[in-house]
Amino acid sequence: MPKLAKFRAKHTPPDAESRAGVLTSTASASSATPILHVDMDAFFVSVELLSRPELRGSPVVVGGRKDQRGVVTSASYEARRFGIHSAMPLRTAGQLCPHAIFLDNRPDLYGEWSDRIATILAKYSPIVEMASVDEAYLDLTGTERLHGPPLVAADQLLRDVRRSTGLPCSGGLASTRLVAKVASEQAKPQGLVWVPPGIEAAFLAPLDVRKIPGIGKVTEGALNALEIRTVGQLAAVPREKLEESFGRWGTALYRKSLGQDSYEFFVDAEPKSISHNQTFGADTNDRARLETTLSYLTQKAAKRLRDSGLYARTISITIRYANFRTVTRSKSLSEPTDLDGTILGIAKNLFAQNWDGRAMLRLIGISLESLSAATRQLGLLDAGQKSKLERLARTADRLRDRFGFSKLQLGGSLDEPKRRE
Ligand SMILES: [Mg+2]
Repeated sequence: MPKLAKFRAKHTPPDAESRAGVLTSTASASSATPILHVDMDAFFVSVELLSRPELRGSPVVVGGRKDQRGVVTSASYEARRFGIHSAMPLRTAGQLCPHAIFLDNRPDLYGEWSDRIATILAKYSPIVEMASVDEAYLDLTGTERLHGPPLVAADQLLRDVRRSTGLPCSGGLASTRLVAKVASEQAKPQGLVWVPPGIEAAFLAPLDVRKIPGIGKVTEGALNALEIRTVGQLAAVPREKLEESFGRWGTALYRKSLGQDSYEFFVDAEPKSISHNQTFGADTNDRARLETTLSYLTQKAAKRLRDSGLYARTISITIRYANFRTVTRSKSLSEPTDLDGTILGIAKNLFAQNWDGRAMLRLIGISLESLSAATRQLGLLDAGQKSKLERLARTADRLRDRFGFSKLQLGGSLDEPKRRE
């Protein structure tokens, strides 16, 4: 199974908007970003059905035999009618529907299809984040000239995936990742839901709180105890009250109820890494292109790291060859960093050491790991230099937020001065 990019929500500090005028326009510019969430319908089952079309229309369960331990990983819509769903014990599924067809997991096969899907998605945007084996977020900013308005591009993309793979999928188009994800869920199966900017809260309001990503059984129970069942009811509760009951998670709930992304999205699962991968539309060994892509991915990841107020100690790169062989190499630093120049220097070295300059590649990626929120020690750089670099990085981030990420690519300006080894 390929190593997947992990999606991290954009973090806008709660008070950022009031702090500076420049950030106010930042918030409105980024809130109009068209995000498309693509989610494959009953992915593992759908892949299995490609080679066993005679099972179409029957209840099919993937995960193992019905008398085995373990859980359902995917259930066809026909099986779902019997109450079967993912993560349910196989034995329970077997009792609910004894005549269902039970199939073993074939993760390598699903991984290959996932890669093929990522390759198709990469035709529609330079920014594709595979959030798991069967779902992705695409930033459709600036793709208009090639693919038309976001809604047209989204429709074309979904048709393209279905036609090229034979696999059903759904999409949600919205201005935040959270709303896009909820929208694609509402679109299933084989649909597309668009939530135009400005109506996010209205779209979410009638839905059950459980439909919000990150709200599980525990939070649902606690909210129900407060007579809160729908997202609209949640949105009507003052933020302070939610914070009183739920602490930091309350802030996240408040933002979620309005359809906003936030770092607090991950408060129940602290990020272990921040990754960005790029799958190329066609395999390539063009050094300049590969290096530019690596630099771009690094800057994206580093910005997200800073947005989250985190530092990384380990830098990893992923290289996937045309034949799907995948190599991951990492290097750990003596002190955590959030600076583009430092991270890019290491990423470039790792890439140079692990690519022979000839082999065709289908994907490269970067991952920032061993994350911490701890303040760094000043270490080898003197304090003055370091704070200058940090100021530069933050100014760049603000400009990127305002004018779009790709408008501001960094040259040597953020390179870290030579270190004494
Ligand atoms: Mg899915």
